[in-house]
Amino acid sequence: MPVEEVDTLVVGAGQAGIALSEHLGRNGVPHLVLEKNRVAEAWRSGRWDSLVANGPAWHDRFPNLEFNGEDPDGFPTKERVADYLVDYAKMVGAPIRTGVEVLKAARLPGRGLFQVETSEGLIEARNVVAATGAFQHPVIPPILPEDVGVTQLHSFHYRNPEQLPAGAVMVVGAGSSGTQIADELRRAGRTVYLSVGPHDRPPRTYRGRDFVWWLGVLGLWDLEAVDPGTEHVTIAVSGAYGGKTIDFRRLAGEGLTLVGMTQSFKDGVLTFAGDLQDNITKGDQSYLSMLDAADAYVARTGIDLPEEPAARRVYPDSECLINPVRELDLAAAGVTSVIWATGFRQDFDWLKVDAFDDKGAPRHQRGVSSEPGVYFLGLPWQSRRGSTFIWGVWHDAKHIADQIAIQRSYQEYRGPGERAHMERAEAESA
Ligand SMILES: Cc1cc2nc3c(=O)[nH]c(=O)nc-3n(C[C@H](O)[C@H](O)[C@H](O)COP(=O)(O)OP(=O)(O)OC[C@H]3O[C@@H](n4cnc5c(N)ncnc54)[C@H](O)[C@@H]3O)c2cc1C
Repeated sequence: MPVEEVDTLVVGAGQAGIALSEHLGRNGVPHLVLEKNRVAEAWRSGRWDSLVANGPAWHDRFPNLEFNGEDPDGFPTKERVADYLVDYAKMVGAPIRTGVEVLKAARLPGRGLFQVETSEGLIEARNVVAATGAFQHPVIPPILPEDVGVTQLHSFHYRNPEQLPAGAVMVVGAGSSGTQIADELRRAGRTVYLSVGPHDRPPRTYRGRDFVWWLGVLGLWDLEAVDPGTEHVTIAVSGAYGGKTIDFRRLAGEGLTLVGMTQSFKDGVLTFAGDLQDNITKGDQSYLSMLDAADAYVARTGIDLPEEPAARRVYPDSECLINPVRELDLAAAGVTSVIWATGFRQDFDWLKVDAFDDKGAPRHQRGVSSEPGVYFLGLPWQSRRGSTFIWGVWHDAKHIADQIAIQRSYQEYRGPGERAHMERAEAESA
């Protein structure tokens, strides 16, 4: 059976693969996108039911298509985001083959090609782009044994409050996912404990502008690297309920019990670090520093935006902040479920090339890997802070497509001797 050949094989048809297909098409690079599930699958089956986009429709999108029919300042549902990406793929004519999994890609020795094993046969490709997503495999820290008699699930598998057995819920992790899930459960009448680590919590809006706008004008989306020492600081934002600033003091006042970082488990008791107030205080500082930066921007540029002194209001400390819970006997507290909103890891097991460091992390510069012909897209901080966001990946995709086109032109170059040889061969065969 002849082996299918393609110039550039893109693995994954989420926002990254779709954006790349658009740019490769514009550059005239023949390519194929393989997707093991459906287009934009992560938005359909990898998120909880009520999830809406974290950013408003005017911002969290590709530059060439608006969210038709949506309030530009509203937050589209996850299904609407998935539909948008499907529409976009159709609009740009992305050559996507769904239901095909890439099992292995490795260099063919001595040839400038990669052999790609897929669930539907072999493909040979000059370039391989891993657009398989930054949020692939749920990570659960090894704290709670499986057999302690509570339901444990990762935020990736959480769908809605009805899915959980009756009783109190412990949510571990207070980034955007953990905080939204904890809030949803509390609104559904559950007793909820939320384990809060280091975090940033930008204002949803300030002086009439969404924080995505502020990050844009302040140049913060384009930060090239995370500040040293803040690699584990998560960001807590939400578009839920029309978009509200995440304020842990307010949430505590509404009935959520905040605790520090979850540390260990013994004899039915979960233990938390004594870092709750510190984490909340630093989160407040990150919030206030953004208001300060926004005010300074207004003063400097003279832009006419209404003042908003109420944004600096500090909610009073609730009991859980005054006397933080350090130990929780799960059975005594009636906790029947633990939700781990503790992040994800990537999976490049299928990519057998020399493009990873000794910890298995991609070795790359703006997605161009150390292995010629291998590229990454959608990595956190691939080129900037915005790299994993819908609009940010579009710019990274343009860079990758340009780099592939540039390399193609180098490969097509023929030196004077080769050109003369080719001309002679052509003349002889004429
Ligand atoms: C809970 C949550 C909420 C988020 N909300 C927002 C938001 O509001 N706004 C925003 O801009 N960003 C948001 N993000 C971040 C980001 O936009 C999404 O994670 C997005 O899905 C990433 O797109 P991607 O194309 O890089 O990866 P994915 O969407 O994960 O796409 C990768 C694709 O590759 C496929 N694949 C993987 N391995 C293989 C293989 N071996 N062979 C074939 N196919 C394969 C997968 O099936 C998948 O469809 C959110 C992330 C999470 C986790």
